[in-house]
Amino acid sequence: MNKFVYMFDEGNSEKKELLGGKGANLAEMTRIGLPVPYGFTISTEACNSYYQEGKSISTEIELQVLDALHNLEEKTGKKLGDPINPLLVSVRSGAVFSMPGMMDTVLNLGMNDETVEGMARLTTNPRFAYDSYRRFIQMFSNVVLNIDSFYFEQFLEEVREEKGYSSDPEMTAENWQEVIKGYKEIVKKHTKSIFPENPKDQLFLSIKAVFDSWNNQRAIVYRRLHKIPDHLGTAVNIQSMVFGNMGNDSGTGVAFTRNPSTGESKLYGEYLINAQGEDVVAGIRTPNPIATLRNEMPEVYQQFVETCHLLEKHYQDMQDIEFTVERGKLFILQTRTGKRTAQAAIRIAVELVEEQIIGKKEAILRVDPDQLNQLLHRRIDDSYERKPLTKGLPASPGAATGKVVFDADEAEALAKDGERIILVRPETTPDDIHGIVAAQATITSRGGMTSHAAVVARGMGKACICGCESLDIDLKLKQFKVGDIIVNQGDIVTIDGSTGEIMFGEVPMIEPQLSDEFQLLLAWADGERKLGVRANADNPEDAKKALEFGAGGIGLCRTEHMFMDAARIPIVQEMILAETYEEREAALNKLLPMQQEDFEGIFEAMQGNPVTIRLLDPPLHEFLPDKEELLVEVTKLQMTESNFKELKDKEQLLRKVRQLHEFNPMLGHRGCRLGMIHPEIYVMQAKAIFYAIANVKEKGIDVKPEIMIPLVGHVNELKEMRQLVINAGLQVMEETGQEDDYLIGTMIEVPRAALTADQIAGEADFFSFGTNDLTQTTFGYSRDDAEGKFLQAYIQNKVLPENPFASLDQEGVGKLIETGIKLGRQTKPGLKMGVCGEHGGEKSSIQFCHDAGLDYVSCSPYRVPLARLAAAQAAIKSEQKQDVNKFQAQM
Ligand code: PEP
Ligand code: MG
Repeated sequence: MNKFVYMFDEGNSEKKELLGGKGANLAEMTRIGLPVPYGFTISTEACNSYYQEGKSISTEIELQVLDALHNLEEKTGKKLGDPINPLLVSVRSGAVFSMPGMMDTVLNLGMNDETVEGMARLTTNPRFAYDSYRRFIQMFSNVVLNIDSFYFEQFLEEVREEKGYSSDPEMTAENWQEVIKGYKEIVKKHTKSIFPENPKDQLFLSIKAVFDSWNNQRAIVYRRLHKIPDHLGTAVNIQSMVFGNMGNDSGTGVAFTRNPSTGESKLYGEYLINAQGEDVVAGIRTPNPIATLRNEMPEVYQQFVETCHLLEKHYQDMQDIEFTVERGKLFILQTRTGKRTAQAAIRIAVELVEEQIIGKKEAILRVDPDQLNQLLHRRIDDSYERKPLTKGLPASPGAATGKVVFDADEAEALAKDGERIILVRPETTPDDIHGIVAAQATITSRGGMTSHAAVVARGMGKACICGCESLDIDLKLKQFKVGDIIVNQGDIVTIDGSTGEIMFGEVPMIEPQLSDEFQLLLAWADGERKLGVRANADNPEDAKKALEFGAGGIGLCRTEHMFMDAARIPIVQEMILAETYEEREAALNKLLPMQQEDFEGIFEAMQGNPVTIRLLDPPLHEFLPDKEELLVEVTKLQMTESNFKELKDKEQLLRKVRQLHEFNPMLGHRGCRLGMIHPEIYVMQAKAIFYAIANVKEKGIDVKPEIMIPLVGHVNELKEMRQLVINAGLQVMEETGQEDDYLIGTMIEVPRAALTADQIAGEADFFSFGTNDLTQTTFGYSRDDAEGKFLQAYIQNKVLPENPFASLDQEGVGKLIETGIKLGRQTKPGLKMGVCGEHGGEKSSIQFCHDAGLDYVSCSPYRVPLARLAAAQAAIKSEQKQDVNKFQAQM
């Protein structure tokens, strides 16, 4: 026989998977002797059996429930349905991971026309008894019979009005009896049958309803958002009721043992006298702050404070506790680890260490790296009272203010003039990239959290709101409407990418700062982690930010970003369009000092920390105008025949654009293939690096340059490019009379490079896995197309567990990385290796990098603190795993 039902004294907090979080905690609190109303838990396995049996409760489970009920009746001395001494119970969901408010609850179960009389007599409080009965009918009808609460509320409102009352406490016992009658009529009207009076029927119908609520829309969406597996199922807790609405010596409340938004170590919560739990949450009456309970019920308050300390010590974490006082006696109904903001999570973890409740390693594990985003972007001042126009999906965190613009080109043009822009589009495509780059933030009315705009914005660390369907965008009129409010192009809005809120006008902001507690936690993390953390940065400002956030160097400086600068693009185009070697040299000579200046700025900012500079990577056509647009211009010029020179220039440009056109640019003439065919470009870049080294060193600043060749697939490519860099270096060193130490390495970002890493290592001083391209080339996906077209459907339909561009595909791409590491170190033991794709800033990928034995990860500056913490967590977790293995081996 399978055991599906557990009395509270049969479980403990270890049995979360079986009893759900709530059930396990109720059992644990019972075990440690806290005043918990007795009851039992129907396990998550019973929920899964319910679904396997085609949504039916098996006889085996039914019998076990009846048995447990019998036990509960014995223990309480009350009986379900007994007209003299009735037992009333609550029926609550309780999943393994807390899903607050997502599933259903029924309170006061066991009430009917007979037991209500018993309750009235027993409590000598008929008003309370009838009030509880009507609450039960309302809740049961809503949760189990699916009748909208609105009908009951409307009816109650009518009765109150008719009596001339303004609130519920004015209602008398007789008034509630009248309401009960009305409620039953409502049930009859909606279900065509009478309200179920048999308490056992009520019980099993409620259990079924709680199981069903595992699959309601809210719960499904919540699970998807929090990556909770669908197969876990929910447990159901049946607990004898205690009543906070028995008079002024009763009450109910909710409290956190510490402040969940700031982390301050002070009881934080509220309560209501003479009320039931739902009243606190429903907001019908304004609850009192918990501190005033000290005056109203000093003894209860004292006992509650002690219980809070005890629970916090027992669970070694901040708790979220529900309590009820029934006629002066305190009962604890629930305790769980309290949800908290990132700021609070950090402060609580650090203070728990100071209070010697947990150790430093545990504190490091307590803060979810994903949550840190909240703290690492500019954000709206907490003291500002928000009045959002509307809300979309919080696709990329951070706050931004700017003028609304509806077109990527216009966004770019205005940004060049120094305007701050918020790009608003129905959705974005790769063609809008320049607009996203130029804008402070992007809003789309369509698309989800993995839509193009969302992914691109997150990659750039820019705020973004997606899928804001209430925006009615009119691209022709250049405006959007939200209800009757019209926002025109040029109007200023502020967005909060962490909440999805859009506000009209400018709003006060604060810069991200690492609080003292955060710095301390990160210092502890640095002591634990084995992985180095570097940043991807291509200008001195980002480099400084990276250093401020604790990066140990630059893992990727993408030199093409320096080519995109408005002042340089004409020279870059000159270089691309050059028909002769001399023309190209002339353009490159103009570019060289510009690049050199960039490198000097970055070297100086990095103060002797290593800087990995990657030579040019993207296909050249990315620096030229769009083919279609050019065609239109040429056609127009041909028709007017007014400006012959301009026509010829544009025709030449068009010829070149056509010539450079590629069918699959992602797999085309890019990366080291550019250096192989146009070595003069790489020579110029290498020289700029060496000149920069010389100048910076002359100022007495140390430089650790690492020159990186992108997209190598065959060792011969690296061999040739390595020689090219060495020659350029020799030439410059001869000129400057300096001797420089530097490394030449390669990106590993195509499968062939990983598979032949033993050969490639022979020519490389380091490897950097470019997991963005390695993901593209391993899956054979072009990222822009995949994310725009099918990837979202793949993730929704569970073809793929996650977006592999966000979270490393460990089974596939990971295998190539492991192969690359093994083969590379076979040739050169100790060869330095890192990751510089976006995955370097994502916690599960960081865990993989640690386990695989990489030396460092590199991510955007704003993700550096996250990566430091995640790297420490990875180290601690592997250590813990090894300890368990050792222990098991000894057994
Ligand atoms: C990569 O491919 O992972 C990488 C870092 O290079 P990029 O994103 O610039 O192609
Ligand atoms: Mg790449």
